[in-house]
Amino acid sequence: MTTHTTRMLILGSGPAGLSAAIYGARAGMEPIVVQGIQPGGQLTTTTDVENYPGFREVIQGPWLMQEMQAQAEHVGTRMMWDTIVEVDLTRRPFRLIGDSGEIYVGDVLVIATGAQAKWLGLDSEEALKGKGVSACATCDGFFYRGKKVAVIGGGNTAVEEALYLTNHSPDVTLIHRRDSFRAEKILQQRLFANERIKVLWNKEVETFVDGGGIAGLVALELRDTVTGELSRLDVEGGFVAIGHHPATELFRGHLELDADHYIKVETGTTRTSVPGVFACGDVMDKVYRQAVTAAGTGCMAALDAERFLAEADFEKVAEAAE
Ligand SMILES: Cc1cc2nc3c(=O)[nH]c(=O)nc-3n(C[C@H](O)[C@H](O)[C@H](O)COP(=O)(O)OP(=O)(O)OC[C@H]3O[C@@H](n4cnc5c(N)ncnc54)[C@H](O)[C@@H]3O)c2cc1C
Repeated sequence: MTTHTTRMLILGSGPAGLSAAIYGARAGMEPIVVQGIQPGGQLTTTTDVENYPGFREVIQGPWLMQEMQAQAEHVGTRMMWDTIVEVDLTRRPFRLIGDSGEIYVGDVLVIATGAQAKWLGLDSEEALKGKGVSACATCDGFFYRGKKVAVIGGGNTAVEEALYLTNHSPDVTLIHRRDSFRAEKILQQRLFANERIKVLWNKEVETFVDGGGIAGLVALELRDTVTGELSRLDVEGGFVAIGHHPATELFRGHLELDADHYIKVETGTTRTSVPGVFACGDVMDKVYRQAVTAAGTGCMAALDAERFLAEADFEKVAEAAE
């Protein structure tokens, strides 16, 4: 069993983890990135990305992540093909165990394990992901300019996504399987005051209807949750907005998490409840959830980690001198 030792251990190879790696490597921390089961993170599951700064043309998500990884490696990051299955955060250096049985030891730990959108779990949804079905209005709303779209859900995210989509679409339908929303009242007031949004109560999606060929999504087949009656709603975009799962199971009982299981960080920093452990990207951010914000907090985590190590090293030297 091999033990890999580093100043800076990073979990996750999405925009947050790789940005932390670029900054960490350039600060001389020789980071190791453990990639997890989704090397490159969520952006590898999409095609067109039009909102990452620096590119005038539409770029492809997987290409962007390959470039980020190449940059991280170029400045001295070691990439490991493994997934962490066990953590010990009770003492530094932190010791983590990979699925492969390999051991990873880091003076500081940066957690960038991301989050995954919750889906309805329908075969037709899976088949049309990226072809009309999305879980991110901020990411994909722009591609549906002037088109009829629907949002599925009843919480804050669904209402916010519906409101956001009215910037692009004159005809947004919000579909909810109950007869009232869980969303905050203030958001509901804005929703009901918006003439571009209609609400369909007591309806759930039975099928995302495929138009065949390059058409992608053309309609939703809906089932009334009270009467069981079926109906059809013609739309070109369907946004599933029923929440996200942050990848934090591994840290339960080891780090403070919020009520929705996101890692808690000190406001304005990436510091977690354990000194020397930093969190960045979607695993600590349930508000923005964008590649650029994940990259931004990844940079913050590396800078926070570098300062932490500098202080810890200084204290060690001072103690030794006493
Ligand atoms: C379909 C889709 C389209 C999108 N389009 C856009 C867009 O156009 N523009 C935009 O800005 N944003 C977009 N987003 C959102 C964007 O992808 C995320 O905000 C961003 O990827 C978050 O980055 P992250 O690094 O925090 O986490 P993620 O990208 O989720 O990466 C998490 C990483 O952690 C790793 N990991 C998880 N558990 C472990 C473990 N136990 N051990 C080791 N590693 C682990 C995973 O393998 C993965 O590499 C889109 C998202 C989706 C799903």
